[in-house]
Amino acid sequence: MKFLVLVLFVTAIHAKHEIYSGWKSFFVKPVSHDQLSKLTSKIVEFDLDFVSNVAVNREGIVLVKPQYQVDFLKFLSEENISNQIHSEDLQKQFEIDDQKIEARKLVTRSVNGGRIPYDNYQTLDVIYEYIDKIAEDYPETVTLVSSSKSFEGRPLKYLKISKDKFASNKPVIFIDAGIHAREWISPPTVTYAIHKLVENVTEPDLLENFDWILFPVVNPDGYVYSFERERMWRKTRSTDQNVLSQFCPGVDGNRNFNFEWNTIGTSNNPCSDIYAGSKPFSEVESRSVGEIIDEHLDRMVLFITMHSYGSMILYPWGHNGTLSHNAFSLHTVGIDMADAINKLALPHFPNYVVGNGMLVLNYAVAGAAEDYAHYRGIPLTYTLELPGLRSGFAGFHLDPIYIHQVCIETWESFVIGARRAGELYGKTNL
Ligand SMILES: [Zn+2]
Repeated sequence: MKFLVLVLFVTAIHAKHEIYSGWKSFFVKPVSHDQLSKLTSKIVEFDLDFVSNVAVNREGIVLVKPQYQVDFLKFLSEENISNQIHSEDLQKQFEIDDQKIEARKLVTRSVNGGRIPYDNYQTLDVIYEYIDKIAEDYPETVTLVSSSKSFEGRPLKYLKISKDKFASNKPVIFIDAGIHAREWISPPTVTYAIHKLVENVTEPDLLENFDWILFPVVNPDGYVYSFERERMWRKTRSTDQNVLSQFCPGVDGNRNFNFEWNTIGTSNNPCSDIYAGSKPFSEVESRSVGEIIDEHLDRMVLFITMHSYGSMILYPWGHNGTLSHNAFSLHTVGIDMADAINKLALPHFPNYVVGNGMLVLNYAVAGAAEDYAHYRGIPLTYTLELPGLRSGFAGFHLDPIYIHQVCIETWESFVIGARRAGELYGKTNL
């Protein structure tokens, strides 16, 4: 026991990012479906972690642990899959990334004026302070809900935004972010949507015609942990799922929804980043999204869950690659959303890819929010992979100088997505 305490203590005082010592990351770009499928077939064998999703002709970034690097490179060369080093030393790169964010704080702090700034990644405290303040300043339209608590006891906060407190029968739009802790670019796109719906309104029809539920950080425990301890943390922080969960906490919140749960593309090993949990909705964080769906099911027409990276708009069914009865609507609305972004996107960012989640990524995902929401009856459900890492960009953050740009262009996809959802499903019974 004494030994265990000592080991834990020594682990605790390790320098930040030390667990990534010796890890490397690579750009990989399959140019055919055959190459993509060979690559994704190696995910389990080499324990590959794609921080930027890969598709045919779409370069991704993959993290590779030291023990698999030689074999992984040998495999890429045998299959002739284009690749190049992204980071020789993850630990060092995270330190550089941290410095970039710190340096940016010094430049930008004075011009923020008390509102949430879009010139840097924000701590959970800043995001929560903003949500509280918006609810306080706009009581007529904004209702703060924080009835559930995360595993570690943090409030799970979301806003209901409505002209009449959800009293009429308007279609409901739901957008969440941050279920995957490390995907720091996702929460600002949702706080920016709050800003555009109540503080800086340029599309008044959106509140006239719809009610909104905006949930910027679904997994606050993981978010805080990714800031303070492990930059690449993805899961929740629960320790009650398995005997091993004390040592390997957390569940992949986006593999924990109650549809085709744990049937494919998941792991039963609590130490895996895609651990599905002990049962569907074992995690209060994903359960809280499920409860919102239950509460508003009869009126919810559009459900978007924000992730990164990859510049992709993905729709069901992600668990088996088949198409839903309304795949045509899912595809055309997805294309409209992507077009709206592509029009505004900076030239050095790739265009969005739109498609069925499994067909684009070439791997199946069970128990994900997008599939669950659609299975429950919400007609338009998407996973939106925001833009970020690509050739020429070092590090594992989208450079903070691009946060504002990404929020502005992503907002346009919400605008068109809501309007199209209203046209297609707003007036009919689902
Ligand atoms: Zn994600």
